[in-house]
Amino acid sequence: MLDTKPLLIDTDFPEIRRETTHTLQVNLGYLCNLSCTHCHVNAGPTRTELMSKETIDEVLAYIDLHSIRTLDLTGGAPEMNPHFTYVVSEARKRGLNVIDRCNLTILQEPGYESMAEFLAEHQVSIVASLPCYAEQNVNEQRGKGVYQESIDALKKLNKLGYGKSDSLLLDLVYNPNGAFLPPNQQQLEQDYKTRLFDEHTIEFNQLLTITNMPISRFGGMLLAKGKYDDYMQLLKDNFSDSNLSSLMCKSLISIDWQGYVYDCDFNQMLEMPLLQATKPLAEKLEPSAQKTEPSAKIATIASDKTRTHLRELLNADIQGQSIVIGEHCYGCTAGQGSSCGGALA
Ligand code: SF4
Ligand code: SF4
Repeated sequence: MLDTKPLLIDTDFPEIRRETTHTLQVNLGYLCNLSCTHCHVNAGPTRTELMSKETIDEVLAYIDLHSIRTLDLTGGAPEMNPHFTYVVSEARKRGLNVIDRCNLTILQEPGYESMAEFLAEHQVSIVASLPCYAEQNVNEQRGKGVYQESIDALKKLNKLGYGKSDSLLLDLVYNPNGAFLPPNQQQLEQDYKTRLFDEHTIEFNQLLTITNMPISRFGGMLLAKGKYDDYMQLLKDNFSDSNLSSLMCKSLISIDWQGYVYDCDFNQMLEMPLLQATKPLAEKLEPSAQKTEPSAKIATIASDKTRTHLRELLNADIQGQSIVIGEHCYGCTAGQGSSCGGALA
């Protein structure tokens, strides 16, 4: 697969800094029952990387020492990690909001038949990919038969009470099936709600639109088809600086399956690690007194020496640190903006 990383490192994206971290986004591994064309982690059924129980315990130790409100579980299919129910139960005991980024079809797979009930019982919010309400588009992007399996899983979740009130949240994710920006999130949400209810009596809470990032499998496809420059130009032409204040990397740490930390999931896939922490936890400075650090405009290339492990952050305060940026960051600021929580605007 062609790699866009060498093209992304030198950038004119504006400098951005970390604020208070309230979300841990934890990648439980790259094992997945699907292999979608847009997948930015190149997940699939043959991947063997899975977070160990020891690393999960380090995540819980970090939660115990810091003011974390949300645990956002990603993969692969996070449910395929053998310690999935353990981490969910422990996080809920600690009062965290837990998000499961679910591909829906896993809820229909043999061995996972009781997973939907487990999620409902623990009041886990579900963020589920459904890249379109039309069957053909979903099957093109995610594989044959995926649309029908997703519809069946959504019906199962609705039966359990998901998507009908604020107590069991069911959000759907749309991402474009090609090299274009997502349409207006609110308008598309209305279309999804109408179509899914009229055709399948399916209900859900919110639609989140997410811009395709020019990295990993999608980036490789852009290069292979000679569309990379045009797509980057599209992202830059639609740059909106009003999105800078709500970028997800300001309040989130992304943790890979081995426990190494990044400013976001995209940087994780590009192996661009979070800068080394410089302040101990106790030394909380007023924002105005924060030390100015050199800009991270030229992204760091990861090696074991430069990567930071979560356990090194247990007693560190990273508020105010520079965020490692690259050309791909324009994917988060284009148009309505984009994050794991959908549009920013
Ligand atoms: S379901 Fe999600 S993690 Fe799995 S291959 Fe598709 S995009 Fe990747
Ligand atoms: S890709 Fe987006 S979320 Fe990640 S560092 Fe850049 S702006 Fe932040």
